[in-house]
Amino acid sequence: MSGLYGALEAGGTKMVCAVGDENGTILEQTSIPTTTPAETMPLIAAWFEDKGIGALGVGCFGPIDVHRDSQSFGTILETPKLAWRHFDIVGSLRDALRVPIGFDTDVNGSLLGEATWGAAKGLTDAVYITIGTGIGAGILAGGRILHGMLHPEVGHMRLQVHPGDTYAGKCPYHGTCFEGLASGPAIGERWGSPAAELADRDEVWELEAGYIAQAVASLIMVLSPQRFILGGGVMHQEQLFPKIRKKTLDYVGGYLNTRELGDPDSYIVPAALKDDQGIIGAVKLAMDAAL
Ligand SMILES: [Zn+2]
Repeated sequence: MSGLYGALEAGGTKMVCAVGDENGTILEQTSIPTTTPAETMPLIAAWFEDKGIGALGVGCFGPIDVHRDSQSFGTILETPKLAWRHFDIVGSLRDALRVPIGFDTDVNGSLLGEATWGAAKGLTDAVYITIGTGIGAGILAGGRILHGMLHPEVGHMRLQVHPGDTYAGKCPYHGTCFEGLASGPAIGERWGSPAAELADRDEVWELEAGYIAQAVASLIMVLSPQRFILGGGVMHQEQLFPKIRKKTLDYVGGYLNTRELGDPDSYIVPAALKDDQGIIGAVKLAMDAAL
């Protein structure tokens, strides 16, 4: 077995391809635009072809079928990206590369990276939430990544709309779900400028932190995780962290008094792998597939 692992972070706009080792170190990396399977997949296969990888891990945008005993395992499901709907991405890669393939959602891949080499190392119960173009979360429960009937869709949980927030929400399915209220595009549409240009508008981040804290507080009550890791483009606004920590404790309302909640700075933390958690997590997906 080769000591090299292939990693693919399959996103809606780009496919990040990398080769890594068993320490999660990325040795080589490239990025290929996501257009159509017919155009994009041969470019991915060609890049990995001569890399000598022993297995490939794929963290993929969803929804996807991650159940190995399912007939449609490895396919992309009802995505709005029409060219990719029902595409068998695992089958295509297996045919081209003839190596074992690990497959999970992009957020579960990121969680796995953080659980193996980052901010959730050594924990059995943790939640990784990404807040960017969309919102998603990976859940580590009892030392295992939670899949359930499909996989969790934390970005589409319902939240209470803040009194005074008249924005109708960005989600085509639910309007004002978590993603509809708090994703990067929702911030941009509500306030009329891209999120990155609103850094000094305190009211933007007060509202945003309130929605994120609602989700975190609900997830605390449901899952009782030992730590939350928040990543994605919106979380580059570092002023969010103290606001989220304070509002989360406000929503918990003194009902829980654990050691973890007593130290909010280490309970709600940024991703430790610095935006590489997705691709590094895909290396771990490959390592697990090679076993
Ligand atoms: Zn939704």
